[in-house]
Amino acid sequence: MKKEKTTKKGEIRTRFAPSPTGFFHVGSARTALFNYIFAKQNNGKMILRIEDTDKTRVKKEYEEDIVENLEWLGIKHDNHVFKQSERKDVYKKYIEQLLDGNKAYYCFCSTEELDAKRQEQMGRGLAPHYNGKCSNLPKEEVEKRIKNEKYIIRFRTPHKKVRFNDMIRDKVEFDSELLGDFSIARDTETPLYNLAVVIDDHEMKISHVIRGEDLLPNTPKQILIQEALGIKSPIYAHLPIILGTDRSKLSKRHGATSVTEYMKDGYLPEAIVNFLAFLGWNPGTEKEIFSLPELIKEFSIEKVQKSGAIFNIQKLDHYNSFYIRKKPIDKLTLLCVPYLIESKLITPVLKSEEKIPNFTGYFGKDIVQKFIIKKTKEEIGFEYLEKVVSAYQERLTKLSEIPQLTDYFFVGKLNYDRGVLRWKDATNDDVKTMIDKLQEVLSGIKEKDWNLKNLQKILLDESQRIGESIGKNRGYPLWTLRVALSGRESSASPFEIADALGKEKTLKRLNI
Ligand code: GLU
Repeated sequence: MKKEKTTKKGEIRTRFAPSPTGFFHVGSARTALFNYIFAKQNNGKMILRIEDTDKTRVKKEYEEDIVENLEWLGIKHDNHVFKQSERKDVYKKYIEQLLDGNKAYYCFCSTEELDAKRQEQMGRGLAPHYNGKCSNLPKEEVEKRIKNEKYIIRFRTPHKKVRFNDMIRDKVEFDSELLGDFSIARDTETPLYNLAVVIDDHEMKISHVIRGEDLLPNTPKQILIQEALGIKSPIYAHLPIILGTDRSKLSKRHGATSVTEYMKDGYLPEAIVNFLAFLGWNPGTEKEIFSLPELIKEFSIEKVQKSGAIFNIQKLDHYNSFYIRKKPIDKLTLLCVPYLIESKLITPVLKSEEKIPNFTGYFGKDIVQKFIIKKTKEEIGFEYLEKVVSAYQERLTKLSEIPQLTDYFFVGKLNYDRGVLRWKDATNDDVKTMIDKLQEVLSGIKEKDWNLKNLQKILLDESQRIGESIGKNRGYPLWTLRVALSGRESSASPFEIADALGKEKTLKRLNI
């Protein structure tokens, strides 16, 4: 553990304490975000504490996934504490204190015995809890048995009402009798979750524990342990459960649940942060777009609701489109490049032997010399990609849509049903006339004047004339042009496509 030298009295210190037993869950990300915001708005600190008491389910790759995605979301911790398993000495002191003070005891009951008891209690309609069989064994017997038998250490639960004030749920009360003498450690060096959390929170001087409502049943246990150890309880806030749109607990059934999946699907961190903030909180005004610094200014933990928060993916899509539209085009293009590479439309030619960056970061324009269109082997520059992406910036919901929307920019000859060139009642002859005239107009534009603004102006004017020449309006030639350039019934505007393709390729596509 990296010890902090000083802790100012009264300093707000929160912690995000994930157990790396799976990929970073969006619900955990919300917990991390609220801890971060609360700490920052109080000039405090947020500690990242990786909890690994459950050895069998913890994996290094999950831990890395959490750390990387926190960084990607912009949730910065002030101190990273690893591995409860490396803090045995710290725990030993407390576990011995509890045993010596007769606040905890060794239990030798076998799993079979405990299971049978549990079944029997449930059969009688009782909440399962330990019956206290080993709670008063003579000292000598205990000393003998711990040498040869398997055991665990249990907390001697005092019978009382445990009361605390939750920042979100106000007064909370539990009857400790329902808890029974719960287990707190495997041995004097290995605490189980509830004890480890109490000791860590105390050692790390955590002032506020902000966590999911699913952990609420553990809070009375933790408070009782704090009382037995004579240490101060932190202030608690339990965030509302996250539900799917059908109001059942959010799970895989509802779609992706890990931050990584959302990242790969092309959601921007700004959109995810904004969306997560609204899972249980809202400012009480119409405002719904919040950057992280704005959240730090305006968020209030007291305004977090008690009732379940609905995870509505359409809302996330809405935020994502918003943040995509706001991105400067060069940044957005860099974000789209990995998707174009992955779908094998283009390959980058790197300046040096650097590895191709993944989706988590900007592509790093400076490391790429040029790109090659895979199908045609044509070399293109970054500007080409910028124009392609720009044609779809307004319509993009997530970055992963870009290959499918834009693949016609990355082929030689288009393959499409020529019948689509005819709009409404246009005939094949009309199409031929219009294409000839469009070719004439476009050939007349000089390379140096070939830009979006000019194309738009010239094509709008000329389309009027061309449309009239076949006794129709300008919609007819514009449709035909757009289809000829994209091969699709729906696409970006013909001006944007012509601008991106450039004069030569545009004229080639009109050679039907
Ligand atoms: N490590 C626990 C979990 O991931 C959370 C501990 C806590 O916040 O108290 O469920």
